[in-house]
Amino acid sequence: MPAYKHILTSLLLLTVAAAVCLDAAAETTDSTLAAPSTLTGAAADSLSAPAAESAADVVYPMSAERRAKLIAYSKLNNIWRFAGFFITLAVMSLILFTGLSARLRTWARVARRKFLVLWLFLALFVIADYLLNFPFHVYRGFLVEAKYGFMNQTFIAWLGEDLLGLAITIVVGIIPVWLLYLVIEKTRRWWLWFSAASIPFAVFVIVLVPVVISPLFNKFEPLQDKQLEAEILSLADEAGIEGSHVFQVNASKQSSKINAYVTGLFSTRRIVLYDTMIDNFTGDEIKFVMGHEMGHYLMHHIWKGLAVAIIFIAGGLWLSSRLIPPVIRRFQGRFGFNRLDDFASLPLIVIFLAILSFLFNPITNGCSRHMERQADRFAMDISGVSGETAATAFDKLSVFNLSDPDPHPAIEFWFYSHPALNKRISFVRNYRP
Ligand SMILES: [Zn+2]
Repeated sequence: MPAYKHILTSLLLLTVAAAVCLDAAAETTDSTLAAPSTLTGAAADSLSAPAAESAADVVYPMSAERRAKLIAYSKLNNIWRFAGFFITLAVMSLILFTGLSARLRTWARVARRKFLVLWLFLALFVIADYLLNFPFHVYRGFLVEAKYGFMNQTFIAWLGEDLLGLAITIVVGIIPVWLLYLVIEKTRRWWLWFSAASIPFAVFVIVLVPVVISPLFNKFEPLQDKQLEAEILSLADEAGIEGSHVFQVNASKQSSKINAYVTGLFSTRRIVLYDTMIDNFTGDEIKFVMGHEMGHYLMHHIWKGLAVAIIFIAGGLWLSSRLIPPVIRRFQGRFGFNRLDDFASLPLIVIFLAILSFLFNPITNGCSRHMERQADRFAMDISGVSGETAATAFDKLSVFNLSDPDPHPAIEFWFYSHPALNKRISFVRNYRP
């Protein structure tokens, strides 16, 4: 994962806390058929002879071919959980131990004013990381998705959006990076001040993303299916949510993955439904999904997720403030800098945050899985759909999104922000509202 993604990850970690979503399937980052009109091989697979699983377990049949694809895709994703992590560490170490980071800092001094020097350094650093990561990024982000029939974009269109994301990171990323170096320079307790300062910044990002950033990539509009809209608005009414906050998004523009999520804060708070889900789910299945998102909305999971993220950031930065100085003293000759408040130390901070966020995964994901279970229970209580309907919605996520419904317990424990689909299926099947 390119380092600009790590800066983005810290931002997003704050935002993801806000955008709790139903996409357990996304755990293995996959997608499915686009709208029925574009039924491809994948759709044909899923509609043919039932797969190996016992009839009792399966509510949405999957062909043997599709099952083979799911197994291959899940295996690849599990490998990539580790490969992606080590690629980040390798690229950051390369930038650090070759002295490239120090050289970029020196080049950036042409900007003269300190703030501009930092901004230029950040831009050079993010671009250098993007280029070093590019082959891995194209492989995982484009080629694999295309191989499994999920990619709906041409390479040029995908690259265009990717570079837009890069530009946004350089423009927005200067705020936390400037804050970080400001407090590192001013106080020994920089980790505490930065954690505190990241709360208003996180709120700013969560409020901003749905109305400023996301519309740069996709179109958000009121539900086109007026009958479905009426059903969801009356459900929202029943739940005490103002209906005007339910949108559909043309997510099939990029990928045929199925998803729905809740995001935003204050007036930008909203529930978003992917067009791919509208095209492939029945009205009752969508009601269940909406009930789930409304659960996140009403149980303030956005704020709770944010609190978890801030506690993680404070803990991670406190540990970094203890562990980084001896590392700098040890390798200052190679690094080309000898103080933490030297901008060239940024890749070293990214390495520590990457390792700590990897180690903290079971805690942050455990909190997230707890909130997901609460949202599933809320969805069963409010939507009034049967356990079988809810189970079908989950099974469809597995079939369409090639998501492993039964991951290895260690993988689920460490990496899954949602409970495994099989567990969610047995919960809704046995739940009595
Ligand atoms: Zn959710």
